[in-house]
Amino acid sequence: MKEASKITRVLVLGGGTAGLLAALTLKRKLPQLEVEVVRSVEMGVIGVGEGTTAAFPRHLFEYLKLAPGEFYAGAEPTWKLGIHFVWGPYPQGYYYTFQNEFKSRWPELKRNTGFYYEPETKWLGIVSACMAHGKAFPRKPDGSLHMHNNHAFHIENKKLVGWLESTCERNGVRLTEGTVERVETGADGVEALHLAGGRRVTADLYVDASGFRSELLGRALGEPYQGYEKSLFCDRAVIAGWPRTDEEIKPYTVAETMDAGWCWQIEHENWINRGYVYSSRFISDEDALAEFRRKNPKIANEPRVVKFRSGRYARPWVGNVVAIGNSMGFVEPLEATAIQVICVECSTLADTLVDSLQAPTQTLKDLYNTYNVRQWDDIRDFLAVHYAFNTRVDTPFWRACREETDLGGAVAMVQYYKENGPSVLPEPVLFDANNSFGLEGYLAMLVGMGVPHGKPWKASEPEKKIWRDRLAAFGQHAQRGFTVKEVLGMIRAGGAR
Ligand SMILES: Cc1cc2nc3c(=O)[nH]c(=O)nc-3n(C[C@H](O)[C@H](O)[C@H](O)COP(=O)(O)OP(=O)(O)OC[C@H]3O[C@@H](n4cnc5c(N)ncnc54)[C@H](O)[C@@H]3O)c2cc1C
Repeated sequence: MKEASKITRVLVLGGGTAGLLAALTLKRKLPQLEVEVVRSVEMGVIGVGEGTTAAFPRHLFEYLKLAPGEFYAGAEPTWKLGIHFVWGPYPQGYYYTFQNEFKSRWPELKRNTGFYYEPETKWLGIVSACMAHGKAFPRKPDGSLHMHNNHAFHIENKKLVGWLESTCERNGVRLTEGTVERVETGADGVEALHLAGGRRVTADLYVDASGFRSELLGRALGEPYQGYEKSLFCDRAVIAGWPRTDEEIKPYTVAETMDAGWCWQIEHENWINRGYVYSSRFISDEDALAEFRRKNPKIANEPRVVKFRSGRYARPWVGNVVAIGNSMGFVEPLEATAIQVICVECSTLADTLVDSLQAPTQTLKDLYNTYNVRQWDDIRDFLAVHYAFNTRVDTPFWRACREETDLGGAVAMVQYYKENGPSVLPEPVLFDANNSFGLEGYLAMLVGMGVPHGKPWKASEPEKKIWRDRLAAFGQHAQRGFTVKEVLGMIRAGGAR
């Protein structure tokens, strides 16, 4: 058996969120590694990707053990408790949090909470109640801030990339300006990168974080691409925003149904970012822009259109190349999962190098590939459910979604739900332990979209009273919470975290 050679030098191609997070992760976990990032400042970064999931703070603060205070000061995020879906048949839509709310079981009720959801339900727990009341965090019994960990962030991409660059440098990562003009390949994958100006750079391992260009995995190695177009029909986004004036900073992302797709609203401290994700099969750029402007009359900057394709390469790790971020795969940000996937790709790479004593075997690479490919497919399946059951508007796009969306791996869960309702029994059988949405995610979507099922629970009057009184109590507790602005003030004054 051929012995795997030891990796001591890593070259990361790309200085966007993916490349910088990969470099930082490798250097923090394996400080003995030589890590260099090569990126073209002229080409720039994609400059979007501003909503995260709760996996992102966990990666920074728990896995990499970075100081939250430095991150808050450098990246200036705001808190995101989840997503408000303006989706499905109920006028108020529904909230999807990073907490178990639809599958939770209150001892005084016979079934889990999903069974008690009514068309007029506005929240199910303290986190969604905080969202509904525009509060970032509730109070503890003594009145102080209860800053729990079930949150993510909204961060301006420019500020995140700036903070990552300085944090990389402080941790010993070398950042080099350079444009790769030619890639030399060989039996193991990549032999060398040729930069404009004549420099030839080599490494033991190449991380391809070159974004949609996928310079190494896609272009140089020709790894096959597997599109998700049967499940996800959108392929463009138009993005713009406006400076915040008197609007409250919402502690969540909004995902609003549009005629041929959906629109996000991401909340920065001084800027409100909107983006309409649409399908060019159903609407032209001009008509999408017109609808976007009509529904967002405050837009203050020139909207820009970003084209994308949804899908992934067959394998992320091929020979001595590992692709991370948009260079490996992409799905639209309906659940804002790209940075989460980057975090998992980075941590599983670092763990593989640590575990293999920096000499990863083929079986470890295969394991890495299986694990990370599954992540992408899980997201596709979950997003497919968002499309297949959204009955909010009746347009050609949404009719096609309801009729044609391929549910992929979500078929079994949807079938189970239709027969049995929001029951918690299937979780260990239908969901892999690493599925980032799990049963809770599916229940939030299926219940929130009012998907009919065969076992509605006829709650007794006393049960209904318990349910409604408890929700009212959550609402009162949330009402007393702290707004994003108040918590920002406390952080800056040194009074929190
Ligand atoms: C419309 C839209 C909305 C999105 N919203 C979200 C969201 O809300 N949440 C989320 O998590 N993600 C979101 N994403 C995904 C987001 O773009 C990525 O998560 C994130 O920005 C990572 O990008 P990247 O680093 O892979 O690529 P990029 O930012 O494109 O970086 C690529 C890097 O490679 C360099 N490069 C490329 N080719 C060469 C070369 N030949 N020589 C030298 N350097 C080179 C570039 O200069 C750059 O530094 C969104 C994406 C889109 C399209």
